[in-house]
Amino acid sequence: MANPRIISIANQKGGVGKTTTAINLSTALAAVGEKVLLIDLDPQGNASTGLGISAAERGVTTYDVLSGEYRMEAAVTETDIPGLVLAPAGVDLAGAEIELIDADRRHFRLKDALEDYTSSEKGADITYVLVDCPPSLSLLTINALASSDAVIIPLQCEFFALEGLSQILRTIDTVRARINPMIELQGVVLTMHDRRNNLTNQVEDDVRGHLGDKVYRTVIPRNVRISEAPSHGKPALLYDLKCPGSQAYIQLASEVIQRERSRAKAA
Ligand code: ADP
Ligand code: MG
Repeated sequence: MANPRIISIANQKGGVGKTTTAINLSTALAAVGEKVLLIDLDPQGNASTGLGISAAERGVTTYDVLSGEYRMEAAVTETDIPGLVLAPAGVDLAGAEIELIDADRRHFRLKDALEDYTSSEKGADITYVLVDCPPSLSLLTINALASSDAVIIPLQCEFFALEGLSQILRTIDTVRARINPMIELQGVVLTMHDRRNNLTNQVEDDVRGHLGDKVYRTVIPRNVRISEAPSHGKPALLYDLKCPGSQAYIQLASEVIQRERSRAKAA
């Protein structure tokens, strides 16, 4: 069995669509037959809630795994979506930062746990791991980047978006130089996009001018159906498959798969 592709969904800014992208991209990949593990690495646990796993239903969490108390296998939970399993987060994850400060292999806690899982019988069929990162460039995000083959950056087209973008790009470069030579930027996805807004269009032009085809052709439109879905504990793709937001995430998944294929061919 080939190794799964591990992709972090990262941006140090909150509210840019990381969790929404993680949930809906995972769902779209599972829908085309991939076996997906979504790792919730945000203490807020929005990816877990958004997939219908309430705080009360979470047993072993990613905190327990990073702290070394449990194996990843114990955290992995079924979801309502065939082909998609979840490692949920709990609020205690907020403390991991400080608790791990002197710990052994503190940057590689997630990587080690994932390797253990995907080389075990239970995790052997996983083809994609997506990591929903917290809104910071903290030890948690570093753990995600240290484990990842690729990064997808969701970006909201607003003032200062480019400054934020260069910060995360620098972090990826540092991680590549120091702890994970494999990591590459798969792409930047423009989220909550509003064609009628001049600033949106201006920022989009700037970002495409800087990063060229690293920016996905697909943009995710601002769509109220997307923001309603989490309160029903469902991905937008299940809540309203036909809405423009869901359709955009399906298109994004196909671009992600295409990029994976051309990368695999080039390798
Ligand atoms: P992050 O994980 O980066 O903090 P979220 O994915 O949680 O961001 O999104 C922030 C908020 O914006 C959430 O309430 C979410 O439902 C909403 N949202 C995300 N994407 C869209 C979209 N395309 N259209 C409308 N609302 C969106
Ligand atoms: Mg989030």
